[in-house]
Amino acid sequence: MAGTNANSDLHKLSLRSIFNISGLPPTTDRDKVFTTAMRQPGYQKILQWFLARIPNTYIHLNSSVTNIDYTDKDDPVVVTVQDGKKFHGDHVIVALPVGHLKKHVDTLFTPPVPAKKKTAIQSLGFDNLAKVTMIFHRDDKFWPTETGYVAFVKVNKTAEEDKDLSDIFYGIVLDPWNNTRVLFWVHGGPDVDQMEAATEQELAAAGVKALKKFTNFKDIKPPVKVIRSQWKTNPHIGGAYSYLSTENDKTNTSNVDIAEPIMVNIKGKQTPVVMFAGECTHPTKSSMVHGAFETGDREADRIATFYGIKVQAPILPEQQGQKVKPEDQLHLSHQGLSRVGNETAPPTNTRRR
Ligand SMILES: Cc1cc2nc3c(=O)[nH]c(=O)nc-3n(C[C@H](O)[C@H](O)[C@H](O)COP(=O)(O)OP(=O)(O)OC[C@H]3O[C@@H](n4cnc5c(N)ncnc54)[C@H](O)[C@@H]3O)c2cc1C
Repeated sequence: MAGTNANSDLHKLSLRSIFNISGLPPTTDRDKVFTTAMRQPGYQKILQWFLARIPNTYIHLNSSVTNIDYTDKDDPVVVTVQDGKKFHGDHVIVALPVGHLKKHVDTLFTPPVPAKKKTAIQSLGFDNLAKVTMIFHRDDKFWPTETGYVAFVKVNKTAEEDKDLSDIFYGIVLDPWNNTRVLFWVHGGPDVDQMEAATEQELAAAGVKALKKFTNFKDIKPPVKVIRSQWKTNPHIGGAYSYLSTENDKTNTSNVDIAEPIMVNIKGKQTPVVMFAGECTHPTKSSMVHGAFETGDREADRIATFYGIKVQAPILPEQQGQKVKPEDQLHLSHQGLSRVGNETAPPTNTRRR
């Protein structure tokens, strides 16, 4: 179903999800910047771009936010983290996964978020997709390099087979592009619960059992290493993809209600104090990386607009007629991001208490 959550129970998936189609051509300049960046391997380029511009002292790793207090108009945002440390600011952009929001919405915000936002958070679907990677000894690679993807089709399964861990192994990527000794499995829906609960040794044995059952390769040695995701049970994630659910239809809510900023009247001016970003807040590209990226841009723009700062559309290397080294592409793409027009006060980080 439309690249959103093909692994969810279709009875829970709203038809509105069909419009969240991945792979659409880029439509905005920002989309183009993102796809330009994506021509380079790995998402690190995006992270590197930000890390090069944000002073280290502003980045606090391993700091799980436990509360965002927006009660005091003289101290608009107070963010408390796990160890009790507090951070003060004028605005906060909350980009938490909806799985985490669902669990903690009642304690994360003081005062509580508006009722409609809470209902939207609780109604949005958030299901699973998971990965198991198996690395084999270089002498034990048993599959032909030219094959890319293999899917096992199981029909008329017995109840016993259904309970067997090897039953969750059905889609496998053989990585012909890099010719590695790595097999990469994808799991969806309820299989993810079984996968995340199993040990790596159990997964290795079950994967090999499935391979022996469904392929002609019988002499398969166990992998030397298994690496698997555990996003569902990760307390800071809680799943993989958000999707508009039938619960959203019943409550007449959508991602737009989650995205709605919380405005506070500060010195007579309606101020966006608590803002929301992340894939679950995108009206049409939720569940996708470029959707998440755009929502960050959207909220940064909201702050810029609030302070009367115009952000120029980024100029793409192609538009500048430049020949660009791949490693410089993202950097150049963002040189167009500059402040123009009549500036009033910049968004303050200066109010550090
Ligand atoms: C297996 C799999 C395959 C996928 N494939 C694709 C694909 O091919 N194409 C695509 O476009 N998308 C894909 N996606 C989806 C994509 O990864 C997500 O949509 C995207 O990462 C969402 O970005 P985000 O910034 O909204 O959230 P996240 O990337 O989840 O970031 C949220 C961050 O908040 C942190 N956090 C949580 N709680 C707290 C707290 N209390 N305090 C501080 N920090 C906290 C989390 O640790 C996390 O780092 C895939 C996802 C999965 C799981």
